[in-house]
Amino acid sequence: LQKKQYEPLTVETAVNLTKELDLFPENSILSCREIGDGNLNYVFHITDSINEKGIIIKQALPYAKVVGESWPLTLKRSTIETNALKKHGEFVPQLVPEVYHSDEDLAITVMEDLSHLTIAREGLIKGQSYPKLSSHIGEYIARTLFSTSDFALHPFEKKRLAVEFSNPELCKITEDLIFTDPFFDHETNDFEPELREDVEAIWKNNALKLEAAKLKLSFITDAEALLHGDLHTGSIFASETETKVIDPEFAFYGPIGFDIGLFIGNLFLHAVSREEAHRAVIFEHIENTWTVFHSVFSELWEQSNLEVYTKVEGYKEYILQKIFSDTLGFAGCELIRRTIGLSHVKDLDGIADKDKRIAAKKQALALGEALILNRNKWNSLTVAITLLGEKT
Ligand code: ADP
Ligand code: MG
Ligand code: MG
Ligand code: MG
Repeated sequence: LQKKQYEPLTVETAVNLTKELDLFPENSILSCREIGDGNLNYVFHITDSINEKGIIIKQALPYAKVVGESWPLTLKRSTIETNALKKHGEFVPQLVPEVYHSDEDLAITVMEDLSHLTIAREGLIKGQSYPKLSSHIGEYIARTLFSTSDFALHPFEKKRLAVEFSNPELCKITEDLIFTDPFFDHETNDFEPELREDVEAIWKNNALKLEAAKLKLSFITDAEALLHGDLHTGSIFASETETKVIDPEFAFYGPIGFDIGLFIGNLFLHAVSREEAHRAVIFEHIENTWTVFHSVFSELWEQSNLEVYTKVEGYKEYILQKIFSDTLGFAGCELIRRTIGLSHVKDLDGIADKDKRIAAKKQALALGEALILNRNKWNSLTVAITLLGEKT
């Protein structure tokens, strides 16, 4: 293939590119639709009506829409996404889409079509419970993160990867939108007037802001493993039997608890959006995510003999305690920022009844604060669940 100059694809040029790539048989009849839902990327779905096969071409756009304005945003995130899908695919091929092709200049990733699955957030909102979701994500997190950490890799390889996955522009978005803006009276914040009192209490809570600052520093400096970086329920395709994690454009070397915390935080956001009678299955997912992560991570640790300290008594427990406390803190930040920050979740915003919506959001804020403030005290997720007035 010829070297290409970047330009945004259209349905026509996406089909032409697909033909050049020889991904379909000669007799195929291709059609194409743009199905992306974001402000950052195009997603083209190309299908062959003769052989009933499809592919996805995701293309990064050179700008992002933030608070109504366009900001330039590096196209390199497409290469990060491709390489993270491939790197994580080495450890959990069954849990990520296969990458067929990529082109750094066009900023595209050509990958497996997962249209037979549903985005987990959408399905959960419709009342689905996805029995395998937390076991699969617990396994995904444990295997991808352990295997890219200093506990599994030679230090030269680990540091090479940390450079390869340097992702400062996307990290800055997280640093601002998750760890900073919601804790201050910043213009990117977005919340109902009924929440103003609760929000001002957050802005005045120095103890909370101090903990958020510590978590932000951990996010910036703890280069523990190759994170997904944006592991919310909208980045996960699911069915009764299958789970696939997509969209790792925020991947970088960061603290292990961040991926777990974001996922668990989104499960909590979903739980508070449900009527109390239907929350138990989500609480089981929350506890099971940590249980499975803990057990797979421990298993990989016992098998590892690369890092000599893995055999020192008490060290594994120390590391898992650090990861657990980070997980609670990051989950708390996610609960707060998805409730009052720039980027909301449909689970909460979609509650039609206003009183119920405000009540759910107040619960999310209170739980977020408690998770951040108690992250070094609580030793199980049951405490957090009990705080919502539930028994497991
Ligand atoms: P963004 O980074 O813009 O959020 P995503 O990677 O999350 O992009 O993709 C946006 C949407 O495109 C997804 O919610 C899903 O509906 C669709 N999509 C993305 N990847 C695939 C895929 N491999 N198969 C089928 N649909 C996909
Ligand atoms: Mg999206
Ligand atoms: Mg996405
Ligand atoms: Mg994305």
